Amino acid sequence: MALKRKFVPKREKTSFPESWRRLHDAALASYRHSYAPYSSFPVGAAIETEDGSVYGGCNVENASYGGSICAERVAICKAVSEGATRVKRVLVLTPQKALVPPCGFCLQFISEFGSEKTEIGLGDLKELKSVGTMAEYLPNRFGSSHLAK
Ligand code: ZN
Repeated sequence: MALKRKFVPKREKTSFPESWRRLHDAALASYRHSYAPYSSFPVGAAIETEDGSVYGGCNVENASYGGSICAERVAICKAVSEGATRVKRVLVLTPQKALVPPCGFCLQFISEFGSEKTEIGLGDLKELKSVGTMAEYLPNRFGSSHLAK
């Protein structure tokens, strides 16, 4: 008996602006690999680095909950591991209609590799719903300049 193949459309019909399309494609592709057996809350993310490269990430949970990592940090770790350390834009996708911003850990992580102008886009799988900047998300953020030398 032939196994039924799960239908996965090659491209979602979206209302993402063209300028966010590559980020959306990468975030959606990673979203499909989300490992979220404990929260049942799949997340996909993508970042664009200053050289124009795009890296996707998904949340990866662990039975030891503290070992879990968010999609945004996975995407940034992929970029850094390939030598790209300047984040220009971030996109976070969830299946929820409500806006789901990055958590505090991820904002701090984005801040490390971004700037006050780094854009953070939020959307569901089909629509970009919000774009804000790092300065708006974390106006008084902690950074390397606060470390005593
Ligand atoms: Zn997070």
